[in-house]
Amino acid sequence: MSSGAPRGNGQEIRLSRGASLSDFADKINANPGSLVQEMFNLGEMVTATQSCSDDTLLLLGEHLGFDVQIVSPEDEDRALLAQFNIDLDAAVDEDRLVTRPPVVTVMGHVDHGKTKLLDAIRKTNVVAGEAGGITQHIGAYQVHYEHAGVDRAITFLDTPGHEAFTAMRARGAQVTDIVILVVAADDGVMPQTVEALNHAKAAEVPIVVAVNKVDKPDANPDKVRQQLTDYGLLAEEYGGETMFVNVAAKPGIGIDELLEAVLLTADASLELTAPTDGPAQGVVVESHLDKGRGAVATVLVQKGTLRAGDSIVAGGAHGRVRAMLDENGKSVAAAEPARPVLVLGLTSVPGAGDTFLAAEDDRTVRQIAEQRQARRRAASFANSRTRATLETLMEQLKEGEKTSLTLVIKGDSSGSVEALEDALFKIEIPDEIQLKVIHRGVGAITESDVNLASASSDSTATIIGFNVRASNKVKDMADRANVEIRYYSVIYQAIEEIEAALKGLLKPEYEEVELGTAEIREVFRSSKIGLIAGCMVRTGLLRRNAKARVLRDGVVVGENVTISSLRRFKDDATEVREGFECGLTLSGFGTPQIGDVIETFEMREKPRA
Ligand code: GDP
Repeated sequence: MSSGAPRGNGQEIRLSRGASLSDFADKINANPGSLVQEMFNLGEMVTATQSCSDDTLLLLGEHLGFDVQIVSPEDEDRALLAQFNIDLDAAVDEDRLVTRPPVVTVMGHVDHGKTKLLDAIRKTNVVAGEAGGITQHIGAYQVHYEHAGVDRAITFLDTPGHEAFTAMRARGAQVTDIVILVVAADDGVMPQTVEALNHAKAAEVPIVVAVNKVDKPDANPDKVRQQLTDYGLLAEEYGGETMFVNVAAKPGIGIDELLEAVLLTADASLELTAPTDGPAQGVVVESHLDKGRGAVATVLVQKGTLRAGDSIVAGGAHGRVRAMLDENGKSVAAAEPARPVLVLGLTSVPGAGDTFLAAEDDRTVRQIAEQRQARRRAASFANSRTRATLETLMEQLKEGEKTSLTLVIKGDSSGSVEALEDALFKIEIPDEIQLKVIHRGVGAITESDVNLASASSDSTATIIGFNVRASNKVKDMADRANVEIRYYSVIYQAIEEIEAALKGLLKPEYEEVELGTAEIREVFRSSKIGLIAGCMVRTGLLRRNAKARVLRDGVVVGENVTISSLRRFKDDATEVREGFECGLTLSGFGTPQIGDVIETFEMREKPRA
C-alpha cells in the first residue's frame, strides 16, 4: 500500500513534543491524509490533528526516512522567549553581580522536628514592630542575622521535606543553595534521613546537619555524628567538612549557632551572587487560588528586582503585579534576589517550580503565557493518550480486564498536588497495574471533577481531596455517579492508603505450603471404595481433601492428586498427625504401591510485600 507520502533522505526535521500528523505534514510538504494512511499501515490509528506521542513521531520519521528531532519543552521555551528578545541564560557582567542571601531547605525524617525548627528560626527573628503583624504562610520567609558584624539575610523555604524539593528539581528549578538536614538525637539516622541526604547530594547542595532534640534525656548527638560518617558526612570536629550543630527546636536552643553555620557554609563553599538590576526572574515556590484575592503566588526572585506594577509571566499565567507582600503580610515595594514575596495580580494559578519573569509590557507577557498554555495542552494530551494500536487493542481484549487505579487529585496548593502526585508515582507497583492521574488541580472538588471521574474510560476514577472538600451538592452528585471521594491532609497517609489500594487491586497470588508426608506401608482392595493405602505419617500431618502428589523412589509419579478419604482405624478423620497410622484413598491417581511417599500441601494466599 503506498500512500504517496514523500520520503526523506535522512533529512533532519524538528518537531515539538506532542506535534500532530498535520504538523509533521507541514514540515515535509505532504498531505496530512497521506501520513494518516502511513500510520495506519504501521498499525496505528491516528487522526491528522491529534497530538502524537514521541514514539509515534519517531516511528513515522524512521519509516519515511526523516531524522525526527523532538524538541523538548525547555528548548522550545528558550526559542519562544528568544522571539521576544529574552535570554534567561545570558551571561551577566561581573560588575553587575551582587552578593545575595542563601536559600535554605529543611529536610529530614518525619517527626524529627523540621516544622518546629522552621518555627523556631522564624521566631528568633521577629523584628520589633513586626510582632503584631499577621504572619502568614507564604511558603518561604527571610530572616536576618548579624554575622561578623554584618547584617545578613537567609531565606528559608517553608515547605519541609524532600517532596517539594524534588518536585521543583524535576521541573528544572534549582532554588535551594543549602540543605539543613534535621536528625533527632534521640532517634538517629532513619530512612528519610538517608533519602533526604541522597537528594541533597544528587543536587550537589551542601548540607548543614541540625542534630535536634538535644534537650531530651535520651539524646545522643555524638551517635548521630557517628552514624552519618557512614553516609559520607564527616563532622568538622572529626576533620571533615560538614558542620553539625546541636539544637533543640522546641525550647529554641542552638538556633543562632545553626544560622551561623549556614552562613559559614555558604561563604566557604558557595559563591552566591546575582544581578539586582534588570527585569526580575525567578521561580514560583507555591501558588493557590484565594477566594478573595484570586490567584496568589509566592515567588522567589533569582535575578533582577521585582516591583509592584511589573508585568510578569509565570509558567502559563500572566498579569501585572498588583501588590507584593512579605511573610508578615507587609507590603513590599521591591524584591531583590533571594527575596520571597507573595504576588497578587496573576490571571491564573501557575505551578510550583514554574519560572517567572518580568517583561516590558502586558502584551509580551500575555503572548508568552498564551503560547505556553497552547503548548502545554498539546503536550499533556500527548502524554495522556494511550496508543490505540491494533496490537495493544487486541492484547487488552485478550487479557480480559486491565487492572488500573485512576485518580483525580485536587489540593489546596499546586505544590501539595504536585508533591502528592510525585510521591504516588514513586510507589513501587507491579507491571500488571496501572496508576493514572487523569486530572489534577487546585481548589475545591467540583461537579466537573466528578463528571470527569465518572466518565473515565477504563474504570471510574477516585477523587483525592488534599486539604480541600466537596460541597454537599457535589457530594450528592458523586454518590449518584458512584464516584468515591477520599480526603487527606497528610501526604504520607494518602500514599499509604493508595499503596494499600493498589496492592488490594492485585489478584491474590498463591503459594504451596507443605502440610506433611506419609509413607505407604500396605495396600488393600475394598470392594466398595477401591484401593486403600495404609500409611504412616512421617512429617507434619495429612488432611482430608488436601492436595497431594505421589513420589516413587524420589520421582513424582502422580500430580494433582487429592486425599479423598482419610480414616484412623474404622473412623473417618479430618486430620492425622506425624507418627500415626491411617488409611486413605487417593483420587486422581492410579495404583498406589508399598513404599510410595505421599506429599500433601495446601495453597495459601501469599501476602504482598
Ligand atoms: P517534622 O515531622 O519533622 O516536621 O517534626 P515536627 O516539627 O512536627 O516535630 C515532631 C515532634 O517532635 C513534635 O511533637 C515536636 O514538638 C517534637 N520536637 C521537635 N523538636 C523538638 C525538640 O527540640 N525537643 C523536643 N523535646 N521535642 C521536639
